[in-house]
Amino acid sequence: PQVVTKIAAGEVVTGVHSVVKELVENSLDAGAKKIVVELVGGGKSQIVVSDDGEGMEKEDLLLCYQPHTTSKISNFEDIYKLETFGFRGEALHSICSVSKVTIRSRPVYLPVGHEIEVVAGHLVYERPVSMDHGTVIIVKDLFFNVPARRKFLKSSAVEARMATEVFERLALSKPQVHFVLTRDQQVVYNLPSADFLTRVKQIFTDIPISQILQIDSSEGSMKLEGVIGLPSIVRTSRSTIVFVNERFVVSQLLINAIYSAYSDYLEHGQHPFAVLKLWLPSKEFDVNVHPQKLEVKFTNEEKVFTFIRDSIKNQLKKTIA
Ligand code: ADP
Ligand code: MG
Repeated sequence: PQVVTKIAAGEVVTGVHSVVKELVENSLDAGAKKIVVELVGGGKSQIVVSDDGEGMEKEDLLLCYQPHTTSKISNFEDIYKLETFGFRGEALHSICSVSKVTIRSRPVYLPVGHEIEVVAGHLVYERPVSMDHGTVIIVKDLFFNVPARRKFLKSSAVEARMATEVFERLALSKPQVHFVLTRDQQVVYNLPSADFLTRVKQIFTDIPISQILQIDSSEGSMKLEGVIGLPSIVRTSRSTIVFVNERFVVSQLLINAIYSAYSDYLEHGQHPFAVLKLWLPSKEFDVNVHPQKLEVKFTNEEKVFTFIRDSIKNQLKKTIA
């Protein structure tokens, strides 16, 4: 059983960034209005995620780190509905089996919370604790008991940078939620609840507002919202971030549509800036859910491609002509 656990953990937990992703997604699933992420030593020494979400009662807390524990999915089909981020109850178990974890949680309707410590998957103690409502998860010494994986963690700087990127995407996906990120006690981001455009500006502070265009278009049941950069803010590496129904996705089709819209303006090796949210009914796409990424396939690829390309192209033409 030990071996199985470690292989499963390898799937979900690959580094600091995936711990941050899983914990923040759980906080979002719990309806948090404010989420604080703290990294110490690039997250290799400590990752703390605190939220003001619905919390867990003692009984659930004592179960949540065990394999296949989820309060979210009643049957396999539900995974495709994508209403929550949950991934079949694997994340917390995987994280707890490869690190030293303290979890404190208190539902709003109870006067006190409860705390557990789990080291390498084993419960060390449990006790009542006085705390605000919500959940605090402290992950220490990631992979301390799996030296082969610990060795493959990147430098603190690189782990922190990858985790910061994940944090940025999550913050972009839910601008209505207040997000805070600190690194070794220094505030990197403090992003109060905002609309999407404001959230984009909060994160991409290096991009002059005069150089970005807003996209807001719809066609039938599809809706596209977001910002794109004028061709003059050409980037030297890929800077396109796309969400489908509030989830960060990997989609070559969407990337191609964006690049195609810029084809008259950019040279080979130049990259546009775009942060876009596509909304469409869940019956119009399928997702390949993998712990590390979300690949999406559209029922009508041509329709989506054309809609994205033309929405961007029209906006560029209007502004540049
Ligand atoms: P999943 O998200 O797929 O359900 P996880 O392993 O990520 O699986 O979490 C297991 C369970 O622990 C969740 O279903 C939820 O009930 C509970 N949980 C985890 N994190 C939180 C949180 N921040 N607030 C409230 N409940 C949580
Ligand atoms: Mg989860």
